[in-house]
Amino acid sequence: MKDKIISLLAAFETENLGKSFPMDYCLPVYHCVSDENLPHIRHIIQYKNTKQFEADLDCLSKHFQWVSWSEFKDFISGNFKPKKKMALLTFDDGFREFYDTVIPILERKGIYACNFINPAFIDNQELMFRCKTSLIIDEVERGQKIDPEIFSVLSLENPTREQLKQQILKINYHKRDLLDKLTEKFEIDCKAYLKKHSPYLTTDQLKILTQKGYGISSHSWDHPKYNELSLQEQMESTELTFSYLKENNLMYDSFAFPFTDFGVKKDFFDELFKNQEIFCCFGSAGVKSDSIERLFHRIPMEMGESGEKTLKKETAYFRLKKIINKNKIVRR
Ligand SMILES: [Zn+2]
Repeated sequence: MKDKIISLLAAFETENLGKSFPMDYCLPVYHCVSDENLPHIRHIIQYKNTKQFEADLDCLSKHFQWVSWSEFKDFISGNFKPKKKMALLTFDDGFREFYDTVIPILERKGIYACNFINPAFIDNQELMFRCKTSLIIDEVERGQKIDPEIFSVLSLENPTREQLKQQILKINYHKRDLLDKLTEKFEIDCKAYLKKHSPYLTTDQLKILTQKGYGISSHSWDHPKYNELSLQEQMESTELTFSYLKENNLMYDSFAFPFTDFGVKKDFFDELFKNQEIFCCFGSAGVKSDSIERLFHRIPMEMGESGEKTLKKETAYFRLKKIINKNKIVRR
């Protein structure tokens, strides 16, 4: 229902997206761009193909001015005035497609981007738990008959295939051992998959990307959901990543929340910004401001719609919420 209303309102948005856009910066976030079917991603992210991605970029280029990381920082600090509203392109998770597919497009178009990575997966040492979820779902969809032992791992009794999928999709960071049990039962060899497909960027690629002028920054150590962690766990994952970035001469002045910043309390930000080297952090709540001054929200672009539609919907939703004063996230 909510989506229907927003879609309807979005249809009335003008063609001048940049002008009607309610913020003076636009921060799109993607994970992957590929023309291939990627079993480890396709059940968790509706990534775009190259044609859709290029259309998004062309739309954004028309209405916004792309900026680099240093221009973004200057803009926030009040030292840079873009001609149009500015846009900073960001990617999360450090997938190899950033290097293979995205960068050639960005180089051709002259657009900067920053990728927020999890050091635990760089060099394909391990699969992120959600990628395991995706591989398992892929197997559930393909398999003829499912071993009842799998149901018992999940304490389910004769679920439908859909119920089984929903239950697997719900497995969180703290229960990720369950996913290892399931991959075993489904005879999915994650090590072999990593070797064969190299889903993540390598240390060498991070170096080359940095030399080319692209940004590599922090997305936590191994992608936990921050609102499920204690403050101590949050800080451990964050600080470990900053040490890694520093050691490898990558960017250590920003942090993008894995999954979502939703439910993360003020004490984390107080602790985070004690580190004076950190310029800002990024959430993904769409077009929203935040009571944390240096937390900027990005717009998820992989919602199964064109970039233009997404931006129009975000703008329409913002206007709708303005009426009830719900555009600012307040943290305690
Ligand atoms: Zn992520």
